[in-house]
Amino acid sequence: MRDPHEGGRPLVTVGTVHLVGAGPGDAELLTVKAVRVLGAADVVLHDRLVDPAVLVYARDRAEVIDVGKRPGRAEQIQHRAMRLMVSHALAGRTVVRLKGGDPFVFGRGGEEWIHLVEAGIPVEVVPGVSSALALPGLAGIPITHRGVASSVTVVTGHAPTGHAPGWDRHATADTVVVLMGVEHRREIAAGLIAAGRPPHDPVAAIEQGSTRAERVTVSDLAGMAAGTLRISAPALLIIGPVVGLRARTMARVEKRAAVA
Ligand code: SAH
Repeated sequence: MRDPHEGGRPLVTVGTVHLVGAGPGDAELLTVKAVRVLGAADVVLHDRLVDPAVLVYARDRAEVIDVGKRPGRAEQIQHRAMRLMVSHALAGRTVVRLKGGDPFVFGRGGEEWIHLVEAGIPVEVVPGVSSALALPGLAGIPITHRGVASSVTVVTGHAPTGHAPGWDRHATADTVVVLMGVEHRREIAAGLIAAGRPPHDPVAAIEQGSTRAERVTVSDLAGMAAGTLRISAPALLIIGPVVGLRARTMARVEKRAAVA
């Protein structure tokens, strides 16, 4: 189509950007909707936490771009991701911005949404299964449990310098889930103990949850503060009495014939 007022330049309809959650790792934890929009995208911009098995749902013809953060260059890379989303959408392409877990749980999805709207680009959201809510359960730890835990806090362990979370604000929840907490785990444990949690409060670290490489390590706040918890990123920390339920959920079930 040609617009007579535009000197013959072709007109394109601005493409939509879909902010899509890719789930915590296992590609089977994608939503049906995520699979559908991936299959319709011209361009897929994905984070580093997104498993390659998820990308098989993109069309063969789609341009797949890794805009994953590298340590120390987060802002520069975030700007590049924003620029690419805007330029592809303005060129009329359908864009999927694929983020680990859910786009709005420490995923900067809100910032991107606002930026896109300000650039005149329509946005659609496909929520994802967040690691914060899904990985503890997969590892045998219900994040709430009647009589054991009736509140949960999800907090980042990687606040920018000068904005360290006030652990006394988070320590009061029955269950504390910490994302991005590997690097500062000793300080986090010390902070929670100083804020009144018992040193024997159990801790589970879930590394690479929902993938074949998943590893679960159980300790307590005192051990974590003392540096005995040997883990590497990506990992999620879950702290509180619900961790103790794992011994029961993961108990061996002997196979036996059903009684009619
Ligand atoms: N938007 C994501 C979280 C982004 S912050 C979500 O909703 O899941 C990134 C942090 O999430 C990691 O540092 C880690 O703490 C946690 N995380 C994400 N995927 C994980 C996985 N498969 N195993 C363990 N932790 C994970």
